[in-house]
Amino acid sequence: MRPVRRIGAAALVVVALVAPAHAAASTVEVAALQSALQGLALYSGYVDGIEGPLTREGIRALQSRRGLTVDGVAGPETRRALGWRGRPALGSRVMRSGDRGWDVAALQFLLQRAGQGAGRADGLFGPLTQAAVMRAQEAAGIGVDGLAGPVTIRSLRSGTGAATEAPTGPVRFLRPVPGPIGDPFGAPRNGYTHTGVDIPDPEGTPIGAAGVGTVIYAAYNGGGYGNLVVIQHRLGYTSWYGHMSTITAYVGEEVVGGTRIGYVGSTGDATGPHLHFEVRHYDTPIDPAPLLLSTVAARPARTTPRGPTGGCDGLNRGGHGDWIAGERLCAER
Ligand SMILES: [Zn+2]
Repeated sequence: MRPVRRIGAAALVVVALVAPAHAAASTVEVAALQSALQGLALYSGYVDGIEGPLTREGIRALQSRRGLTVDGVAGPETRRALGWRGRPALGSRVMRSGDRGWDVAALQFLLQRAGQGAGRADGLFGPLTQAAVMRAQEAAGIGVDGLAGPVTIRSLRSGTGAATEAPTGPVRFLRPVPGPIGDPFGAPRNGYTHTGVDIPDPEGTPIGAAGVGTVIYAAYNGGGYGNLVVIQHRLGYTSWYGHMSTITAYVGEEVVGGTRIGYVGSTGDATGPHLHFEVRHYDTPIDPAPLLLSTVAARPARTTPRGPTGGCDGLNRGGHGDWIAGERLCAER
């Protein structure tokens, strides 16, 4: 019964090494805490490492559920109440595919922050996390083995595992479908605000990827998005495409601006056919409107390799210009 023994040891490690996640807690610890609370459906915010009212509310809800002192501070007892999601501490083991826990969530957050994108910070070390670890290791010039040990964690924490190139131009996205924006970002909804922009288009209008990236989600989402595709771009950006009638992208697919990923529909929480287009930066939704180029990414993709400049000869000289939109940016300039 190896898991049982590990739980005992891990609990001790938690008590000994982990400070309460109050104001002094590091961003990474807060992110792991948010991920754990999210996994228990006690936190509906974003895993952003910023301890705000929603995070503290989640802690209090957990404490109250478990009969602990309700103080909103994630001390050792509260951490234990998180079960496997609360342990083990980051750095207490070499993480590998199949592992789960607090440290994995912390690792996923570090990877996101480094712009390597590990999908959701859910505390589960799956294929996306492993691929992200390998990308980070490659970027940091350390051994690429997909195992997250002390060297990998240190390089991520110090920033050397970050995507090495920084954007020298503004980050821009291609329009995934033609047409003006209807419902804007931040529009009041029933108890929350709109996390993206809605672009009405006829059912069946092809949707193009808004830039260079990797598909990390392509499935029905019960949270209101309906048929949803999420693309991980560089620099911690993801783009989300909701309500599709049909998804044509697949998880792991490498796309460029204009790669068809599906068709406009009204699946999920939608009253009519439109594309819900959302952009997140480190999992926090931001207004995509100022980042949108006028160019529509509707043409079939060229099979260009991933790269900031692609075939945009000379136009991005002296800088990457925009490496989300990729080579299609030259059509804009
Ligand atoms: Zn929407």
